[in-house]
Amino acid sequence: MVNFADLSVAYFSMEIGMNPDIPTYSGGLGILAGDTLRSCADLKLPVVGVTLLYKKGYFKQELDADGNQVEHEMNWDPSAFLHPMPQQAEIMLEGRRVMIKAWVYNLMGSTGRIVPIIFLDTDLPGNSDYDRRITQYLYGFDEKYRLAQEIILGIGGVKMLESIGCCNIQKHHMNEGHSAILALELYKRYSQADEPIEEVRKRCVFTTHTPVPAGHDQFPRELAEHMLGENILPDIREELYINNKLNMTYLGLRFSKFINGVAKKHGEVSRNMFPGYHIESITNGVHSYYWICESFQKLFDKYLPGWEYDPFSLRYVLGIPKEEIWSAHQKAKQQLIGWVNKHYKADMKEEIFTIGFARRVATYKRGDLLFSDIKWLMKIAEKFKGIQIIYAGKAHPKDTAGKELLKRIISKMQEVSHKIKVCYVKNYDIATAKLLVSGVDLWLNTPQRPQEASGTSGMKAAHNGVLHFSVLDGWWLEGHIENITGWSIGAHPNDSKENVPEEDAEDMYTKLEYIIIPRFYEERDKWVEMMKHAIAINGSFFNTHRMVQQYVLNAYFK
Ligand SMILES: *Cc1c(COP(=O)(O)O)cnc(C)c1O
Repeated sequence: MVNFADLSVAYFSMEIGMNPDIPTYSGGLGILAGDTLRSCADLKLPVVGVTLLYKKGYFKQELDADGNQVEHEMNWDPSAFLHPMPQQAEIMLEGRRVMIKAWVYNLMGSTGRIVPIIFLDTDLPGNSDYDRRITQYLYGFDEKYRLAQEIILGIGGVKMLESIGCCNIQKHHMNEGHSAILALELYKRYSQADEPIEEVRKRCVFTTHTPVPAGHDQFPRELAEHMLGENILPDIREELYINNKLNMTYLGLRFSKFINGVAKKHGEVSRNMFPGYHIESITNGVHSYYWICESFQKLFDKYLPGWEYDPFSLRYVLGIPKEEIWSAHQKAKQQLIGWVNKHYKADMKEEIFTIGFARRVATYKRGDLLFSDIKWLMKIAEKFKGIQIIYAGKAHPKDTAGKELLKRIISKMQEVSHKIKVCYVKNYDIATAKLLVSGVDLWLNTPQRPQEASGTSGMKAAHNGVLHFSVLDGWWLEGHIENITGWSIGAHPNDSKENVPEEDAEDMYTKLEYIIIPRFYEERDKWVEMMKHAIAINGSFFNTHRMVQQYVLNAYFK
């Protein structure tokens, strides 16, 4: 068991995804949180996670025949996975008392060490109906609801940690600005100190995750004052607002001593966005063991014993015989193809070159770039033995442009379906992601630069020897070596300021036709050599073990 008094780092995240059966995440941010905590457990670090319960999850995605997204509630039973805790915490919200209870999930690492994750829950009989629903939906309803959630997470989180006996927390890591209100609660603890803000800053670490403005929460001052009330001490009241808004990113920046972006380029972009702050970068990773499929796990067990404790040893994959790499990949591919044929009657074949694309359907990710010239795409499919395409991804329920994009993608898929086997896998989640990132041959990524802060699905693909074909943005600027770990799409950001969609599309089709697909079908040896390099060079680095060690050295224990 864990002794809460020994824990010194509290990791706060609006979403944490670490188990396919616990739907308290929407995508990249939550899965990063889950992978991070899993590595913390493996590395036996004194860390506790804090998040909200979301009894109705994010949403379950269905698609109708026209590609309209239909959203369903996800009901799940917390008591099947989490343990209720006897302690409660109490906060003031909108002038009312709100009681909070906690559930704990014991995330066990490879060495048996547990990192507890605290899920805050306001569904208690003494609370008003509104308050009971605060921890029901991830990213649901209006801005007031969202602010209420962030107050529960920030203030409720700090209080709950004290209540359950985590009384030695030295660092509060805000995984994105959603939890930045915790700084206001810490400020209360040190308001009598000589330099109260410095005291808070010493205890806070802030990671910013997106250069997209919509990703930075801000609330009107009036709403913030109304909701927070006396949680804001008078002496800092005047300096919290920028343009009359309570901006969570500024809160994180102002109250944290260590601040970072999630890739080198993103650090640079963030420094330009927020001048005057010292912003470093720690490039994201994924949990190697969690994301490597079974056939590769077995292969690495044979050649790299102990690799599950030490993902850096993936660099020795270069010595594994090519036939065995290929056969491990074919097994993963068989699983995926069998699965899409069974569930979607996709009629796909294991020998055919397969492209995967799965991410949140947001316009800047340009999921329709692959279909921007379907004549060219179909011509390529005919020239070789064929192409298969598998897509997945949810649009945020309020993102109408994203939903239009989703419809457009599905209609383009239907247009090419007489020449190319296609499948849109619905309800993208951890379970389907595992199948996809290991089972396709090529992982495609086409964001508008410089909006991809990091991206992590390409790292999952690389761990499984699935080659990455992407715009040079986020982590790919660090992981890309042309023709060795994968391929780029379009210009390098140092050479051109903007990426022009037409140029990117032309580069994409040209490389598919003249380099990538010929190599897959006609130079299999070279292809497998690249797979080995993707694992050795990128799997051994873009993992959360390396990332967490950087947080430990640069941010947590400093
Ligand atoms: C990894 C993952 C993501 C994030 O992928 P990006 O490449 O960062 O967009 C989103 N959803 C699921 C289910 C994932 O597994």
